[in-house]
Amino acid sequence: MPQAVVHVLFTIIVLDLFRDHFLKNKKRLPLHYVFIGGIAGLLPDIDIPLFWLLNNFLSLNVTWFHRIFTHTFFFVLIFLFISLIYFDFNRKVSKLFAIITFGVAFHIFLDWLLVGGVAPLYPFSDRVYGLNLIGRLNLPLAIEGLEAIVLLWWLWHEEKTHKISDFI
Ligand SMILES: [Zn+2]
Repeated sequence: MPQAVVHVLFTIIVLDLFRDHFLKNKKRLPLHYVFIGGIAGLLPDIDIPLFWLLNNFLSLNVTWFHRIFTHTFFFVLIFLFISLIYFDFNRKVSKLFAIITFGVAFHIFLDWLLVGGVAPLYPFSDRVYGLNLIGRLNLPLAIEGLEAIVLLWWLWHEEKTHKISDFI
């Protein structure tokens, strides 16, 4: 972790801000791609249900492997590689995998920034890197409200730029 909602929310917000402020033609990044990016922002934590599945469903007694295989540069490169392969003959698929690449990379960045750390060079090195801001600042209450603060700020931003309350 951080919480799943932090990963989804932060990835969507960053993609949306990029879409709003840096892209000249917003149609190049349709909203459903932003949504897919949000899902990809959760993808590296697929190891948690996978672990549960292996242990409880298939009764394989594997040791806890969260934040190992799916939190590496190698995992990011898989999606980047697919995006590059498709670049010349299917731009849509290429763009889709570029968004997934971003979501996955941003997840690993957040784990690096906020929690204990990640070992991005695994399997070549077990060395764990991370700022562990949540642990170091020791402010669980403030951090627990972090996603709420970010969400409120983003809603304010959307209201200011798109008048979203007109649609409610
Ligand atoms: Zn994670």
